[in-house]
Amino acid sequence: MTPFDIHSPIESLDFALFDDKSIRVDIKRDDRIHPFISGNKWRKLKYILQSARRAGKTHLVTFGGAWSNHLLATACAGATFGFKTTGFVRGEAVSNPSLSLCKVFGMELRFVPRTNYRDKPLLYAQYAADNPQAYFVDEGGHSAEGAKGCAELIDELPRTYDHIFCACGTGTTIAGLYQGCASLALGTQLHGVAVLAGGDFIPGAVRALYPDAQLDRLSSHTDYHFGGYAKTSPTLNTFISRFTAETGILIEPVYTGKLLYAVFDLAKRDYFNTGDRILVIHTGGLIGILGLHDQLMKNEV
Ligand SMILES: *Cc1c(COP(=O)(O)O)cnc(C)c1O
Repeated sequence: MTPFDIHSPIESLDFALFDDKSIRVDIKRDDRIHPFISGNKWRKLKYILQSARRAGKTHLVTFGGAWSNHLLATACAGATFGFKTTGFVRGEAVSNPSLSLCKVFGMELRFVPRTNYRDKPLLYAQYAADNPQAYFVDEGGHSAEGAKGCAELIDELPRTYDHIFCACGTGTTIAGLYQGCASLALGTQLHGVAVLAGGDFIPGAVRALYPDAQLDRLSSHTDYHFGGYAKTSPTLNTFISRFTAETGILIEPVYTGKLLYAVFDLAKRDYFNTGDRILVIHTGGLIGILGLHDQLMKNEV
């Protein structure tokens, strides 16, 4: 398996707000890694696929919601690197552009009722009983290997930052970023923006993968979920449209819209110190914006 080169440039975000506050904000364009194996999903899959290959397995079996960026990334990565793929999709059978792409990349889709979906190891065990080539890949690519792939982002940085921000779903990405900073002994403060409601899961997610993690290097922001996972609002939609029109950088309401909203809001509230250098990770996931097409179109911007 020859992983394709990661091309993830860093660009500066030039806004009067940031000048006024005397801070500099850059964005790392992990969305440019690949159109379908987007951003952190490629970083997470990299070592998972290598392990599957080493174990002699040829069939990836994974899990996700109907708009899961991870399902699409796994479908495309499987096709690219010679694995069959099966995706268990949470909930009743639906069709949408993201699932259609999964199918085009050759993924077998199996819809499962929410109650059954909860027990992924059982679903997998039943499936793998007849498929000796099957290889379990957790929802969202959540795993120590996934975090290891994300840690490599830090090695790519040409300079140090005072703050690094990313959007958090399972927390695997921020755990990897934490480890990347720790192994280089960087003094960077890491910030996770929770995209789901229900409190502060981020420190626990990092500790689950790195039990010795120094949590004072980690800040979690839990007030920017806009009602919960994949929920949005006119305020968020307006922000996304303005940001995208002004920069040419597409963001979406599930992850990166909430992330950038948080950074702008914190800057307005004088959260940062004069002279701070801030890096925002664009984790990709742009197909998801199609799921909010109707809402975005209805919105006055
Ligand atoms: C999956 C995803 C995340 C969340 O990553 P975790 O490692 O689960 O916290 C963030 N951004 C985008 C675009 C994603 O697709």
